[in-house]
Amino acid sequence: PRKFIVGGNFKLNGSQSSLKSLVDNLNQGNLSTDVEIVVSPPFIYLDQVRKSVRKDVAVAGQNCFSKGSGAYTGEVAAEMLKDIGIDWVILGHSERREIFKETDDEIGQKVAHALEAGLKVMFCVGETLEQREANKTEETVFRQLAAGVKYIKDWTNVVVAYEPVWAIGTGKVATPNQAQEVHKSIRGWLKENVSAKVADETRIMYGGSVNGGNAATLAQEEDVDGFLVGGASLKPEFVTICNAKA
Ligand code: 13P
Repeated sequence: PRKFIVGGNFKLNGSQSSLKSLVDNLNQGNLSTDVEIVVSPPFIYLDQVRKSVRKDVAVAGQNCFSKGSGAYTGEVAAEMLKDIGIDWVILGHSERREIFKETDDEIGQKVAHALEAGLKVMFCVGETLEQREANKTEETVFRQLAAGVKYIKDWTNVVVAYEPVWAIGTGKVATPNQAQEVHKSIRGWLKENVSAKVADETRIMYGGSVNGGNAATLAQEEDVDGFLVGGASLKPEFVTICNAKA
């Protein structure tokens, strides 16, 4: 039984006052106890959100570095996130890969370090439109997974987020079939390359234009164990998405 998990990735959005409204809305929301909820504001607001959000909602960093301390100007360590009570981090997001040129191996090192520091990791993978149209969806996702697997000794604190790049921020959500197909092949890959137990127990979230209107149908798919939500996580409908499986 994989507990449904919904993450809100706020990306580079928010202010003290807008995040206060957002947190108030969540705190007043009727959230199912059958779902694990994680919100991820920009670093500078992590402490504010951690201190104000209800205790049954966890908080995630959107990134962290592969080292614990040192001369790395501008970076934030997993240890620092832990220090202020943050439990999760999102790593390998396609925006980090594409805009900030993070490589598969750098992401693998970040995952390893974050797990060592005691964080739980949302490990993101996903193909571009070009890769999908060239029939390279599986090849791409498996390559990204393989780079992480090299560094992951224990899968207890890892969830995989499948986020097709063509669906992110575009309004072009994957159909339930498209999502299920890739989630199923990710699970198959995990079975072959890690273990049957890890394949069975690891949650695979879907991300890309999830909203209050499409979440419930996607949530019915066998291998869709949650969502990683961008744009809609900044709106009141995030509560609807959190309850999509309930
Ligand atoms: P959107 O929900 O805005 O498409 O973003 C998805 C995403 O990138 C979550 O990490």
